[in-house]
This record gives sequence, C-alpha cells and structure tokens, in this order.
Amino acid sequence: MQDLFGRTIDYLRISVTDRCPARCIYCMPDANVNWLHHSEILSFEEMLRISALMAELGIKKIKVTGGEPLARRGVIPFIERLTKISGIEKVSLTTNAIFLDDHLSSLILAGISAINISLDTLNEETFRRITRTNAFAKVCNGLAAALDAGIQVKINCVPISGYNNTDIIQIAKLAEKNSVHVRFIELMPLGFACELNPISPGEIFMMLEKEFGKLLVCNDKLGAGPAEYFNISGFSGKIGFISALTHTFCALCNRVRLTSAGMLKPCLASDINIDIKSMLRGGAGDFEIKDAIKKIIFEKPPAHNFTADNKIHADVHKRRFMYRIGG
Ligand code: SAM
Ligand code: SF4
Repeated sequence: MQDLFGRTIDYLRISVTDRCPARCIYCMPDANVNWLHHSEILSFEEMLRISALMAELGIKKIKVTGGEPLARRGVIPFIERLTKISGIEKVSLTTNAIFLDDHLSSLILAGISAINISLDTLNEETFRRITRTNAFAKVCNGLAAALDAGIQVKINCVPISGYNNTDIIQIAKLAEKNSVHVRFIELMPLGFACELNPISPGEIFMMLEKEFGKLLVCNDKLGAGPAEYFNISGFSGKIGFISALTHTFCALCNRVRLTSAGMLKPCLASDINIDIKSMLRGGAGDFEIKDAIKKIIFEKPPAHNFTADNKIHADVHKRRFMYRIGG
C-alpha cells in the first residue's frame, strides 16, 4: 500500500489491550485509569481478520503492543496465529518485561521474531519513580531470560529530565557485552508526557561520546523502524536514537496503528482514523473493509505536528494517551 506521499506502508502495530500493571509517568495516570470496557476492545478473532486483510494489502510486519500486551490472556496463541497469516514475515512484541520471564519460552515457540523491552533505568528506586511499580526484579529476570534465550532483543529507553539523567550510561552499557541494541526514544509530547521534559538526543549523544569515545554511524538497515544506529568501539550491540521531534523521520514512516478499541490510525499524532470495529461488528464484507483501509492509509498525514507552535495542537496532544493508542 502506498500513501499520497509515495510512502510504502508495510508495518502494522496492534495494541491488544489498554491494561497495564505499570503506571509510567509519561504514559498513564497514577490512579483512576479510565479503562475501556471489555466489549469495547477488539477480540483476537477481530484483530486476526483485520491483520489478514491488511496482509493482503501489503502489510509484512506486525508489532504487538499495548498497554502491556502480556497482560492480556490468550495473547500468545494470538501471536502464533499472526505468524501464520500468509504474507506476514515478522511478528514482534513490545513489552515492559514484567511478565516476560513467565512467557518467554511460549513466545519463542509461538514464533516471535524479536522482543523490544522498555527499560528506562537500572536503578531500582528510579524505576519505582518512573513506573510507579515495584516490579524491578521481575523486569530484570525477564531481560536476563530473553538475553539467555538468544532471541533478538532491543532495549527502549525514554530519557526524561530529572528522572534518569544519571542512568543513561548504565543503560547504554547493556549493549557492551550483550548483542542487544539499546535505543534512546525521544519523549513525545502526548498525554501525561506533556508535563515532562525530554533529555535531548544531542545531550545523550554527548554523554555517550564523553564516556565511550566516538559514536560511529552504522549504515546497516536494522529492523523496520526509524532508529538511527551508531557503533561504539568494543560494544557487541549498537546504540540507536529514535528522535521523532529533533530529527523528524515522517518522510520514511512505513507504519499504521490498530488501537485496542478498533480504530485504525495512520499517524500517532493525528485524529485521522477509521472505526474498523464498527465496520466489522456492523457486518461489513472484506472488500468494503479493505477499501476503507486503503483510503485511510492514502490519507496518512505527511508529518506529525508535535513541534507546531500552536496551543490548539498542544491541547489536542494532551488528550492522546499512549497506553490507549499503543506505543
Ligand atoms: N507496555 C509496553 C511497553 O512499555 O513496552 C508496550 C506499550 S508502551 C506504550 C510502548 C512504548 O511507548 C514504550 O517503550 C514506552 O516507553 C513508549 N512511550 C510511552 N509514552 C511515550 C512518550 N510520550 N514518548 C515516547 N515514548 C513513549
Ligand atoms: Fe504500561 Fe508501557 Fe505505558 Fe509503561 S509505557 S504504563 S509499561 S503501557
């Protein structure tokens, strides 16, 4: 599928739930979360039907996300069925790793290609401050198990000023001995993150060069995403930067998102979407659904408007929540 700007869209992110045992400060409120009712969330059968139709339209890779995807019962058989859809080459997972140790072997048997683990700090107290949970030990176990299993692992760290400034070097060091890629994701002004300040990618870059010496550009294509990768001498893994604000990569964007509530969103930062759930539940046929998907993808906005100097935009972003959309 191609959009109006000639971008090929071959990557689907599916948020399977809005539930999560963590309450990360940039993603969720600490209490009184306004959960979706079960009936509002797509069933796995519905997600599989949409995925199969999208595979017919050219989707090749699927990332399962949330909320916390491993918090939804039945997610592993669902992943296995995704991997069997004709045309789907890779199914991967983004997780906070709280339940990873329990599910790792089943995930591998189900055919998962890669696992992204979100980890903003290796300091237990900072972990508690950021995630508002006491699950640090479980996350460490999940990470260790994934590293031992030899599955492809990427670590995603969101640098937040005043929280994990002093943890960046330690997180980067995970790529020294292990062949994992550590990626620094620039905090995007969505939902609760609008009240926080990012540590800029430039600052992170300088911190890393001061500690480890020159970061050398890596031109290998690693994965489907927009990360820019660098090598550090002596490191097994690479260091990546996903800098949506400072280095807008929208011109290369290849993705579309299916929210747990059944909205297909061509851009994280836009309200353009279609309500596929209503189409499915209203009895729409495959042809009609595929037509609607093609239309919404064609209308994918050229770029996000996070940096627009405009109060209306800023207010709109405050009402968009990652745990609902799927990060
Ligand atoms: N619960 C899973 C996890 O944390 O990996 C999957 C869902 S979570 C919403 C996906 C990713 O989005 C996480 O890596 C998280 O750090 C990131 N994220 C959430 N809010 C963000 C924001 N405002 N800016 C940048 N990344 C964000
Ligand atoms: Fe949960 Fe992931 Fe959001 Fe943290 S970022 S609250 S782990 S969904």
